[in-house]
Parts: sequence; structure tokens; C-alpha cells
Amino acid sequence: MLTPRAAHSSPLMLFEFCGLEVLPCGCVAADYVATLLSLDVAAVEVKGPHCTVGHHTPGSLLTPDEQGSGTAASWV
Ligand SMILES: [Zn+2]
Repeated sequence: MLTPRAAHSSPLMLFEFCGLEVLPCGCVAADYVATLLSLDVAAVEVKGPHCTVGHHTPGSLLTPDEQGSGTAASWV
């Protein structure tokens, strides 16, 4: 099981934090890059109060279809 939150405590930096994204359903997802695989992953950080997507729970990974369709935060 991938645990992006553990990346910050790992000296190997398996995941590099890229930014936050607000999904259309209201959830906030965090984007990461798995540095060894050059693979983009996104995980739900906060479930939106009105989200009806059952599998959107904090820590759950998103499919590529769910990524990039929301509003990316630009503060990074
Ligand atoms: Zn959601």
C-alpha cells in the first residue's frame, strides 16, 4: 500500500510533493511524483463536505481520469 504521507519522513524521498488540487466534487487532492518511477500519483487529502464519490477518502489514490480535471493550486 502506498502511503504518500510517509514520504516526508523518508530519507529516500520516494515521493516528491508537487501541489494541491481541488477536484470538481470539492475534495482536495495532493499531487506527488514517485521519484524512482517518474510516475504521477494523486491522493485525496481532504474529503469535500458535499462529495458523493464513495471511494474519495483521505489517503485514497485517484485514477488518472480523476486527476487534472479540477483547479490546480498555483502557490507551489
Ligand atoms: Zn470527492
